[in-house]
Amino acid sequence: MNRMASLVIVSKGKDPYQTTTTALQKFPFADFNGKRVLLKPNAGRLASPGEGVTTHPLVVSAIIDYLRTLGVKKIAIGEGFIFGVDGQKAFEMTGFKDLSQKKGVDLLNLDQFAPIEKFILHGALLKKVKVSSALNDFDCIISIPVMKTHMHTQVSLSIKNMKGVLWRKEKAKLHQLRFSERISPGPGRKALDYAIAEMATLLKPDFSVIDGTVGMEGLGPAYGKPKKTDCIIVSNNALSGDAVAAWLMGFTPSKILHLKLCSEKGLGEIQLERLSIYPEDYQTWRNPFEPPPTTFSLPFPDIRVYDEGACSGCLSTLLVFLQENYLRLDDYRLKDRKIHIGIGKHLTSCPNGTILIGNCSAGLKKRGILVKGCPPVSSQILEVLSKKRTLNS
Ligand code: SF4
Repeated sequence: MNRMASLVIVSKGKDPYQTTTTALQKFPFADFNGKRVLLKPNAGRLASPGEGVTTHPLVVSAIIDYLRTLGVKKIAIGEGFIFGVDGQKAFEMTGFKDLSQKKGVDLLNLDQFAPIEKFILHGALLKKVKVSSALNDFDCIISIPVMKTHMHTQVSLSIKNMKGVLWRKEKAKLHQLRFSERISPGPGRKALDYAIAEMATLLKPDFSVIDGTVGMEGLGPAYGKPKKTDCIIVSNNALSGDAVAAWLMGFTPSKILHLKLCSEKGLGEIQLERLSIYPEDYQTWRNPFEPPPTTFSLPFPDIRVYDEGACSGCLSTLLVFLQENYLRLDDYRLKDRKIHIGIGKHLTSCPNGTILIGNCSAGLKKRGILVKGCPPVSSQILEVLSKKRTLNS
């Protein structure tokens, strides 16, 4: 809906509400009057405000108050959840249930609406996606992500945050795509980045407010370390806003593959020197984040992981499970005295007795111990293993 030139405003301060309001007040809004606006924070996981996992509700609170001064007709907060996460619990824990009640705005679990199928023009990997039909009730979407690193895509910002409007398991579908021989762009390039860029041609938000009050560095999007930067980035071009955020996080925007691909598709400018960014000395606020690990290495030399196409859900689960339960796994060692674990949709072989984590690895269930879930949580893995041990004893 926004036809003005791309503009990015960065604001810094200790108070998330005030810092957001300051950034919004500097923005020359033109066309929110009479509009129905969906606010899409990052609220898809069970986490509390300030942990760097989910958007701080005070940021969203400031947006609601400010939009009301612009004469919007309707505001709602909406999120679709990581598979296996209880939406109600997540809305409570993240603070959005309270906020919606205080502000008198609707709180929508986007996964509870019927799906609608949307076709992606020129999609090479992604021909069509199912999205929540709740989107039909809105004229525009504001993406409000947390400033985070991501173990597969380096950063997770407002473009990637839109994955939450995909319907239920459709979110995981993006992690399961593979290039065909015909379109393979070469080694080291992940299908996920291409899928995000193709998704963005359909689901680019109209506006973005990036919450860097407390972001996440390292093993994002869920198991990294909180990183306080006290900044908010607002843009009428989500891709340009993401580019500025990525730069402030210490990355080079053109080296973040999904941002580069979005830019090549004409979704926005990522060369900072070609953008209008305020304040002009915003560079002084660069505060490098610890990058995500490039390989998923585990600090357990006797664990052998077969990972073929797993997404961050199962990788995160595996990491947490091993941190909590490594010492309980002696009974599952195979002849080589190692514990073998398989994850991912494209897993085609593993030794008999492998622990298979996640529905994606179900194809090999005859070879091992399958823990269902997408992803399962750590306690489910332990429960399945304990049952197996009881049956065998
Ligand atoms: S089972 Fe695991 S790897 Fe497969 S889609 Fe679900 S979370 Fe991702």
